Order: sequence, then C-alpha cells, then structure tokens
Amino acid sequence: MTIYSGPVFEMAAQQFNVIADHLAIPLDQRDRLLLPKRSVTISCPIHRDDGTLAVFEGYRVQHHLTLGPTKGGTRFAASVDIGEVAALAVWMSWKCAVMNLPYGGAKGGVCVDPHALSKHELEGLSRRYMQEMIPFVGPHTDVMAPDMGTDEQVMAWFMDTYSMYQGRTVTEIVTGKPVSAGGTLGRREATGRGVAHLAHRVMRDLAIEPSGATAVVQGFGNVGSVAASELHAIGVKVIAVSDHTGALCRKEGLDIPALIAHVGKHGSLAGYSNELACDPKDILTMPCDVLVPAAVERVIDATVANSLRCRVLAEGANGPTTPEADLVLQRRANEIVVIPDIICNAGGVVVSYFEWVQDLQQFFWDEEEVMRRQYQILNRAFSEMAARAKKDGVYNRTAAMAIGVERVRAAKNTRGLFP
Ligand code: GLU
Repeated sequence: MTIYSGPVFEMAAQQFNVIADHLAIPLDQRDRLLLPKRSVTISCPIHRDDGTLAVFEGYRVQHHLTLGPTKGGTRFAASVDIGEVAALAVWMSWKCAVMNLPYGGAKGGVCVDPHALSKHELEGLSRRYMQEMIPFVGPHTDVMAPDMGTDEQVMAWFMDTYSMYQGRTVTEIVTGKPVSAGGTLGRREATGRGVAHLAHRVMRDLAIEPSGATAVVQGFGNVGSVAASELHAIGVKVIAVSDHTGALCRKEGLDIPALIAHVGKHGSLAGYSNELACDPKDILTMPCDVLVPAAVERVIDATVANSLRCRVLAEGANGPTTPEADLVLQRRANEIVVIPDIICNAGGVVVSYFEWVQDLQQFFWDEEEVMRRQYQILNRAFSEMAARAKKDGVYNRTAAMAIGVERVRAAKNTRGLFP
C-alpha cells in the first residue's frame, strides 16, 4: 500500500512489473524506479460568481528528478485523485525517457469539473493552484503544461502568477502557453499531429491507402480534434467521433472542419446533429482502419480488446489500454498494430521541450522547424521501439517501456545513491 494506491496507480505498477520482469530488475531495486520522489496536496479556495466560497483539492506529483527537471501537464477533471496523478507522472517519465528528453515525469491535477466553472472562476482556480505550487516548482525543478481540462489560457495564467511573484517574466516555468505569451508555434497542434503522423507511418507499413481508409476518434479535445483533422487532411474518412457530451457517426465520413468550427463556437459536439448521433459506447468497436482513443485512461479493457475491429490502435490518451487488454492485444498482434501512448502522444511533450529550450534561449523557431524536429524525434523513437520489439520478440508497449525504464535506471545507477 502507498498513498497512491487505487486502480490507476495499480495499472501503472502492473505495467512496470511486466517490464521489470522482462529486464530482470532485482526485486529490491524496483521501488526506487517506480515510487514517486515527492508529491504535494493543496487546497485551493476561490470566490464563486454568486459570492460564496468553494475549495478544490489539487495535487502535483514529481516521479523522478534523475535526468533533469520533471515535466508534465496539469489536469482539471472531476475524476482526479492523487493515485491517478501519480500514475500519469510515472507514464510521463517513461515517455520523456523513450523520447530522450532531459526530464523526469510529473503530473498535477485539481479535482473539479471545469465545465461547471465560469471563466472568472477558472482564472481564480488556476492562479491559486499555481500560487500554492510556487515552493514546489521552477524552470529547473518542475515545468507544467496543459492536460485534460486545461488549455493555453490556463497556462498563461500560471505563467503570469508565477512571474508576478518573481517580479520578472519567467516564461520557461510552463509550456503550452499562447504564442503571444512566450509559447512556441506548433505546440497546440503537436500531440494530435504526432498521433496522425505515426498512424500514417503504420498505415504505410501495412499498405493501407489513406484515401480508402477509415478512422474512429474517441475524445474531441486538443488531441482528438487535431488528430481527426490531420487524418481527414490526408484523405482518411473519419467515420465516428465522441466527446463528453455524446458521439457522432457517419459511414461516408464526418465533416471534420465543420465539427471543429462547431466545437470552437459551442464548446462541445452537442447540438451539431441529431441524425448523426450514436452511442459513444459503440464507437471503439466499430470496424475501421485506425482507432484513436484520445480521452481518458482504461477505456480498452479485455472485453473491448477482444471486440476491437481496427488495424491500427493509435493511443492519443494516456493509459487507455489496461494490462488485461494488453494480454489480448499481444495475442492479436498480427491483426492490430498498437502504437503505445508513450510514443503515440509524445509529440506534445516533445514540442513542450522545444518551447522550454526556446524560452531559456529567447530564440524562437519557425513552425516548419518545430514540426521537422518533432517528427524526427518521434520517428527515431518509433524505429527504436520497432527494432527492440523485433529483437526481443515482444509487444510494442513492452519494447517502448523497456527502453524508457532502462534509460532511467542507467542514469540512477551511474549517479549512484546519495549520500
Ligand atoms: N499533458 C501532456 C502529456 O500527457 C503534455 C505534457 C507536457 O507537454 O509537458 O503528455
């Protein structure tokens, strides 16, 4: 038992143990790699618009600081608890390591339904969260970013709050900021672009022509909507999408630019069309070439995995597939190619790294350079995973995580134990 115990942390621990067994890591060395270095829980009081006070619980977990500062998003969602945040921090560590970024993993979150807050209340909560975090974060200690329920505007408030306390502008404290406030070109699109880029690469390997292909995207936030739009742009028919309000399906393909415009105006897919509405539960198991889960963790369990009818599973979300589902997908490896989350959605943190580097140097790149370097890193990591999977005769997730865990372990071993 740890304070992180719960279904999501159990899942991260179970996945880690599979890798630790594969790498024959002695039992006594495992906790040093798995357990978060430190975490903090805070209370964030805010003024509601109706004059009452409300208090929201927030967290930040830093998994390891062996390779540099920790890095990871901040999630505003009603499901957030410290176990989920810790699991997400652990996944960020393997993700940063497999991408060869000089970071450990972190994650933060506030247990709140952001849709239930006005813009003014959201600003109050964002600023209070960052203010409470000041002793705990820093540009060389822990660098935040967006995640579910937070966006560029929230990052701008985080950066402003931190900067006001320092008495100078510290853009490098947070990534995923608007370009007008020290953000980089290409960060907002980075995660979705990376998902579509890698899905396209696997489609090429499988000789699937984009113009005759179909995709299903679960989640229509920053990751899902951009992935859908990129797939649509290369000619793939996106036949189903969903968000927290429902799902839309159309065999002939949905008009993705129109959906994005609708969400931009109304905040969700709700109200777009009654005729196209379908059951969100059914979309994961619809026949398609590319399935992109880009919402929450643990949506593909063993039952869903047995029923999947896609050729490529491109994991835009963090942790969408349970360890039990992994056992099924390992058996179905000839039918379905899995692009594991820590590779598939890593475009976000890769471009966050570019943003941090540009902020530190105060030297900014054009979007072409951001994209070229992003794809270069994603392609290299994907190739390393594929080569490792072949060499060890293992499943893609095992190969990707093994590379990440090995890199963190090597750094810990060469640095040694202090004191
Ligand atoms: N929240 C994103 C993730 O899960 C991005 C993290 C970052 O850019 O630091 O990868």
